[in-house]
This record gives sequence, structure tokens and C-alpha cells, in this order.
Amino acid sequence: MHNSMNSNNHYDAIVIGAGPAGLTAGIYLSRARLRTLIVNEGTVGGQMILTHEIANYPGVESISGYQLSNIMKKQARSFGCDIKSNISIQNIELEGDLKRVTLQDGIIYTANSIILTPGGRSRTLNIPGEGKFKGKGISYCATCDGDFFTDKEIVVVGGGNSALEEAVSLTKYASKVTIVHQFDHFQAFEYAIEEARNHPKINFVMESTLSAFHGNEKLESIDIKNLKSGEINSFKTDGVFIFIGYIPNTEFLKGKVELNKWGEIVVKSDMSTNIDGVYAAGDSIAKRFRQVTTAVGDGTVGALAATNYLHELKSKHTNLIPA
Ligand SMILES: Cc1cc2nc3c(=O)[nH]c(=O)nc-3n(C[C@H](O)[C@H](O)[C@H](O)COP(=O)(O)OP(=O)(O)OC[C@H]3O[C@@H](n4cnc5c(N)ncnc54)[C@H](O)[C@@H]3O)c2cc1C
Repeated sequence: MHNSMNSNNHYDAIVIGAGPAGLTAGIYLSRARLRTLIVNEGTVGGQMILTHEIANYPGVESISGYQLSNIMKKQARSFGCDIKSNISIQNIELEGDLKRVTLQDGIIYTANSIILTPGGRSRTLNIPGEGKFKGKGISYCATCDGDFFTDKEIVVVGGGNSALEEAVSLTKYASKVTIVHQFDHFQAFEYAIEEARNHPKINFVMESTLSAFHGNEKLESIDIKNLKSGEINSFKTDGVFIFIGYIPNTEFLKGKVELNKWGEIVVKSDMSTNIDGVYAAGDSIAKRFRQVTTAVGDGTVGALAATNYLHELKSKHTNLIPA
């Protein structure tokens, strides 16, 4: 096992996460001639790669999330940004002028500033059968699994933008889409609500939730509970797509940086955290709207603030690189 720490492993800034927030931070930092490393646990692009079509990124009428991720990655690399993907972090030390990130292979990277952009992941329903039928009828990604449900009748759970937009996208494959939502109204943009409401293949079960999944090898039916009457009805379905919100990927930051009660990173308007030299951006911070554009905006602000911090730090110290 390697356990090296030397000047080759020293960066001005290390960005944790390569979604749109992290890639944007990487672009700005590298372009400012700061030696920058992005470390990403999953595939570069983050949640963007789960999105079949992004139609609200200004300047680009329509693009797949995968394509947009590749362009951002290429752009960051073109300015000299190093990117390590599909590798997890064993330990992170954020205090002091020299931050340390230890990767799963034992190699330690140091930096004078850290930008945290770990994003989030899908929330699960946590009801009987969900674990058993995950990947056998239950999915959290329309782009990844929609094709498996060609000419099938499926259910979408949720009432936000992701649920409604992905329900519409799933009509390309499914013969019928039933949206089950816990409230009597949706928490989505008007255009998304209208598109779903006007779609001939989509119908709605409101003020209801799922209470169990059933089947043998594959999912065959679900229990739908009416939240007003308490009545539970069995509903035959070939597949269920769950889009009920997100959980920030901040478990590894507990006790290291200020998080709120939902696990979101608390930041000031310049994306600085409670630790000097540590910034955060994107879906993992405490904020209301989570989009590619907002992640890109936060990533920009965080990178520019980190750039100022690094310049000030360099003017105070002559040597910040470990021996
Ligand atoms: C199904 C779906 C459809 C969507 N559609 C749209 C849309 O049409 N338009 C739009 O604007 N937005 C859309 N969004 C939202 C958008 O994708 C997110 O707001 C955006 O990707 C958030 O960017 P981010 O960089 O903050 O985080 P993410 O995209 O979540 O990226 C975070 C990255 O950090 C990595 N990571 C996590 N933990 C660690 C760790 N400990 N160490 C290292 N790396 C780590 C992850 O692997 C991931 O690659 C959609 C989201 C989903 C799920």
C-alpha cells in the first residue's frame, strides 16, 4: 500500500465531486492557473448522467446529461485540471492551512483549499419489498432503466420536477404511466405539471403513497395507501420509478464541517463554510433549488472565493507545500 505525501501530490485546491458544481469549480480554478485536482467517487458528471435530456441549460437547447458531463470534463482538463474518478476517500482533514485528502489506495493529497461538491442521491421509500425488488422492477433512474419497460404499465412516485419530467420521458417506452403523489398538488414548475397533465398516457393517484412491493422473482404489484382514508388497494404494475427527493452525500463530512439537521453543508453567500479555506457548492449545500444551473453558479462563486483565499494565503506565507 502506498502512503506517500510529497510536492507532486500537493495542489492549490482539491475539489471533492465531479458533478456540474465540481467540474465548474475545476474549470475556474485551473483557468486561474491554480493547480487543481478533482476527486470523484462515481462516474464524472454526477447526477447529470442520470438525466436523459437537459433542456433548461442556457445556451444549449437540448443535450443529454452524459454529453454535457463530457463537455464540462473536457473543458476542465483543457485548462490543466487533474481528475481522478471512481475512487473513494478514506479520510479528509479540513482544518489548518494544509488540508489532507487520503484516497482508498492510501495516497495522501494535500491542498491549501478544498471545495466540497459531493451532491446528493435519491431518497428511498423504505417500505417492505423495496430492497428485494431494486433492479427487479424498482428503479430510481428513467434514463438508465426506461427501455426495460417498453410497452409495460408503470408507476412513478413523486410530485416534484424530477418525478413529472421523468414520467413524461418514460411515456416514450411505457404504455401507461400512473403518478402516485402524497399531496393534492404538485411541487413542480407549471410547465412540467401541464405537460404531465396533458399527456394521454399519464394518469394520477393523488393523496396516496406506496406501502409495500410484492412479487416473486420480479415486482408484480404494489400496495397503494390513500393517505386521507387509510384504505390500501393492491395495484398490478410491471415497474415503479421513485423520484421523491434527495439525501446529501455528506456522511463523510460529519464532525468535519458544519452541517444542518438535514445533513446539508452550511455556507455563506460566497460558498465559504465554517472552516477557513473550505468552500462548498451544488446540491449538497443548504439551499432551496437544485438544478444544473444552480450547481454551476455555486461552483463559480466557490471557486472565485477560493481563488481570492489562496492569493491572500500565498501573500502571507512563502512556502505552503509540504516537504
Ligand atoms: C433524474 C434526475 C433528472 C434531473 N434533471 C435535471 C434537468 O433536466 N435540469 C437540471 O438543471 N437539473 C436536473 N437534475 C438535477 C441536477 O442533476 C443536479 O442538481 C446537479 O447534478 C447537482 O450537481 P452537483 O455537482 O451539486 O452534484 P451531483 O451531480 O450529485 O455530483 C456529485 C458528485 O460527487 C461525487 N461524490 C459524492 N460523494 C463523494 C465523496 N465522498 N468523495 C468523492 N466524490 C463524491 C458523486 O459520485 C458525484 O459524481 C436532475 C436530477 C435527477 C436525479
